Amino acid sequence: MQTAPTQVQHFIGGSFCASESGAWISRENPATGDALRLIARGGAFEVQRATTAAEMAAKPWAATSVAERSRVLLRVADGIDAQLDALALAECEDTGKPLALTRSLDIPRAAANFRFFATAILHETSESYRTDAPQHALNYVLRKPIGIAGCISPWNLPLYLFSWKIAPALATGNAVIAKPSELAPTTASMLCEIASRAGLPPGVLNVVHGLGSEAGAAIVAHPQTKAISFTGGTTTGAAIAGVAAPMFKKLSLELGGKNPTIICADADLASAMPEIVRSAFLNQGQICLCGSRVLVHKSRLAEFMELFTAHVSGLKVGDPLESESDLGCLVSNEHRAKVHALVQAGVADGAKVVAGGNFTTGLSARVAKGAFMNPTVLLAPPQDSRCVQEEIFGPVVTVQSFDRHADAIRMANGTRYGLAATIWTRDLSRAHRMAHALDAGIVWVNCWLLRDLRTPFGGMKDSGVGREGGSEALRFFTEPTNVCIATGAQL
Ligand code: NAD
Repeated sequence: MQTAPTQVQHFIGGSFCASESGAWISRENPATGDALRLIARGGAFEVQRATTAAEMAAKPWAATSVAERSRVLLRVADGIDAQLDALALAECEDTGKPLALTRSLDIPRAAANFRFFATAILHETSESYRTDAPQHALNYVLRKPIGIAGCISPWNLPLYLFSWKIAPALATGNAVIAKPSELAPTTASMLCEIASRAGLPPGVLNVVHGLGSEAGAAIVAHPQTKAISFTGGTTTGAAIAGVAAPMFKKLSLELGGKNPTIICADADLASAMPEIVRSAFLNQGQICLCGSRVLVHKSRLAEFMELFTAHVSGLKVGDPLESESDLGCLVSNEHRAKVHALVQAGVADGAKVVAGGNFTTGLSARVAKGAFMNPTVLLAPPQDSRCVQEEIFGPVVTVQSFDRHADAIRMANGTRYGLAATIWTRDLSRAHRMAHALDAGIVWVNCWLLRDLRTPFGGMKDSGVGREGGSEALRFFTEPTNVCIATGAQL
């Protein structure tokens, strides 16, 4: 039996509300096709209301002691833990990803983000420089919150990425106006309730739901949002930069990726294979960091293909609620059609489908209409094929071979993106040389998605501008003032 869709409302000035226009966006469960949510469709009016609330809240929040801000954010983390079941289910319903994944990865990571930044601010240091003769001085750097930050996030890791922006923005004393993706907005609203119960004052965190072209664009264009932290597609990032840059806003853009997984001649394939497969297909391949282009030394290609296809054929695609499902469905039927079209483009360019390539059949009645697709392996596409050059963002991996390790670097760097890369080798000095030569913001060696929240996160080329994570995020959400005090004598 179908249940009525639940409403997802804006959170402005500490209260939930619908849009002034009364407009809603309806969203289906991508696994079942059933009506799931009615999402408030906000725009400039709601963004203005949120800005007014944020302006009133920003100064008192900035003046709150670091210890108190830390305590509030730690209570938010505890609140996320306490609501694990409800948050994990909402995320699973919104996105179609396996419930086991939202329980083990997405929601725990959101709590970890809050805990990390809540404690990071307790240990913050400030630079200082002693200026030598002839004019002795002491320089030190003050960091102040920027005021109101705009945070815009995508659908693929909804609460994980939403909290990755909001936690450092709040921890450093800013008020926030945020917009989660209209495809997966529910946990952002649930977080507002958790934050409110944790003691976050009204107006410090505001969420305006709606379409990117309406609510998102209004946040970016508002003169009072002094920084925009955006994670999403490269085309959207360019549009946002076009508006925000001439207004001299601080900008952090975390964009698309087309990440190479390089299998060197000496790779320990047997032990690496489960992680290589996970890096290709976790979250149905809908992670910006997924290794979607595998480059294999030609001496190992036959062995690689045998092991890889055996592992891939063992992956179970199925109902996201069932614990044995390794892959759930894609975020929508429209997205699945786009993914499928890129597979067909690869085939037209000469790639061979050695696994998948088709939609999943034989599913249980509950999910028979869902956006499921089998994990797909495309062998030997040419480097200029769209399936090699464009971000597919689905359960699709290309496999190409190379002769010399220098060729692997050339192929790895041969797209517009530069987010992440993975190298599998036993030779760490080779790994070091390759890491140096790769155009990638993150290089994993003999591992993937191993994250230390203190490290800089982000990409180069068309994968983005700036970095998040650790002190990079704390710096992004603050403005530095250098204070120079003439001391008259050597310190
Ligand atoms: P998207 O760019 O379509 O949307 C992202 C967010 O931006 C959504 O909230 C959307 O409503 C909003 N938006 C859209 N147009 C806007 C506009 N003109 N002004 C302001 N906001 C606007 O991306 P998506 O489809 O939600 O997410 C998938 C993309 O995100 C992929 O390209 C993926 O690689 C990328 N991504 C990158 C990272 C990273 O850290 N680099 C992480 C996750 C996802």
